[in-house]
Amino acid sequence: MDFNLSQEQKDLSAQIVAFAQKALNEGIEERDRARAFSRELWDLCGEMGLQGLPVPEEYGGVGLDPLTSALALEAFGYGCRDGGLVFSVCAHLLACVVPVWRFGNEELKKKWLPKLCSGELIAVNAMTEPGTGSDAFAMRTRAVPEEGGFRINGTKTFASNGPVADVAVLYAATDPEKKYHGGITAFLVERGNGGFQVGQKFEKMGLHTAPLSELVFDDIFVPDANVIGGVGGGGTIFNESMEWERVLIPASHIGTSERLVETCVSYARTRKQYGQAIGKFQAVSHRIVDMKVRLEAARLLTYRTATKLGKRRDVGIDASMTKLYVSESLLESAIDAVRVLGGYGYMSEYEVERTLRDSMAGVIYSGTSDVQRNVVAAWLGL
Ligand SMILES: Cc1cc2nc3c(=O)[nH]c(=O)nc-3n(C[C@H](O)[C@H](O)[C@H](O)COP(=O)(O)OP(=O)(O)OC[C@H]3O[C@@H](n4cnc5c(N)ncnc54)[C@H](O)[C@@H]3O)c2cc1C
Repeated sequence: MDFNLSQEQKDLSAQIVAFAQKALNEGIEERDRARAFSRELWDLCGEMGLQGLPVPEEYGGVGLDPLTSALALEAFGYGCRDGGLVFSVCAHLLACVVPVWRFGNEELKKKWLPKLCSGELIAVNAMTEPGTGSDAFAMRTRAVPEEGGFRINGTKTFASNGPVADVAVLYAATDPEKKYHGGITAFLVERGNGGFQVGQKFEKMGLHTAPLSELVFDDIFVPDANVIGGVGGGGTIFNESMEWERVLIPASHIGTSERLVETCVSYARTRKQYGQAIGKFQAVSHRIVDMKVRLEAARLLTYRTATKLGKRRDVGIDASMTKLYVSESLLESAIDAVRVLGGYGYMSEYEVERTLRDSMAGVIYSGTSDVQRNVVAAWLGL
């Protein structure tokens, strides 16, 4: 496969890196400590088009193909040292904007996509429940039809962007027995005043600047016009949005991994012990080489899968392999980076400890690594 990038693609990447380095990094240590989401930085990302990268321009997006979207997110992950902000934007784009764009009818797309793509509205994906995570389609949230719409009751949890979201892409059971096979429906639900309420807000290990909470849907009414795709189509919609998420969040991880390699090379060249740079010790140089090999393998796998996104039905196996490999690689490389920097790596003023905390989440959200292996096994007929 030929991944010779065009001049336009290179220019776009350079532009996003420069933007992120200049506008998004100041005060990250404080924001991480304060667990603070920055609406101001979110809005700047919106001005750069990051919340609507693959969405056609007629709906307010940038209209990039999936591979170019991956390159843009890689540049975002490289230039932006705020892993929580990168994750917040990705969760909004891939699990909320993408399903509305790919499956919404014309009316829904025209009404919602421009404000979602510009970042004026923040969206949350509401799938996981307190009792159902990996087995997501066994959900208890119910949507019961009534005149002109649906009555919805249930509680969702671990909802990224939940505390700050204006709208939710909610999955609810309309025919519980059928589960994935026609039993789940996707809805676009507004917050407050007859819409969803924010429940418990969670403190977490990493991604501190990306807020996360429970969402409560207490006897709310959602009109037929807010059904995404069609009644019973939620399983397919969720799976496709997970395919996008399993390829394009890893794209941002590649940028983060590249930054880790650069940090380690630079540190290993300058830090001296026993009278020489620590990079001259094979134990250290080989560790960094392993990080570099993981990075380049992850990049190739991600680019290859991105070229299939939205085009081929068998992208499911590639998306799961990509998510599994890239998220585990980032985690392993983040641990290696802390080792390379020694005691300084463990200290908060050095970025690698934050990256390690952030990267742990990557092997859990969008389906755990165990679940990705199950998906690949199923595609292999096992
Ligand atoms: C930072 C973060 C952000 C998130 N954002 C969102 C969001 O925006 N919206 C949303 O809906 N959800 C979100 N989630 C939830 C996430 O999708 C779930 O946490 C994840 O799918 C796992 O579900 P669980 O936590 O219930 O774990 P469980 O499903 O209970 O799994 C527990 C353990 O059992 C293993 N396991 C379970 N089933 C199997 C199996 N069949 N085979 C092998 N092993 C198995 C798992 O791999 C895991 O190790 C987020 C989670 C995190 C950590």
